[in-house]
Amino acid sequence: MSSSPKVDCHDCRYFRSRPYEARIEGCYLEKNMPSKQKMACLDEQQLPGKHEKINLRGDCPDFQARPKRASLWKRLLAIGA
Ligand code: SF4
Repeated sequence: MSSSPKVDCHDCRYFRSRPYEARIEGCYLEKNMPSKQKMACLDEQQLPGKHEKINLRGDCPDFQARPKRASLWKRLLAIGA
């Protein structure tokens, strides 16, 4: 019997945390959200899914790893600093 490795919501591209990424912390995968708004100006009205419940056993099938951030040096070059 093989067990798949557990996934952590904090490493998932659909997870947004407070205070910089979202007003309410949670899962922003559209199908998991009780309230979703298309327009950016209505972003405050969005309700994320409860990631603790959805990924209770660490086996969420929708997990997608966040893309790696570029190094500080590459980011500074990109903004022309
Ligand atoms: S519940 Fe699943 S899709 Fe949502 S943030 Fe966690 S791992 Fe990602």
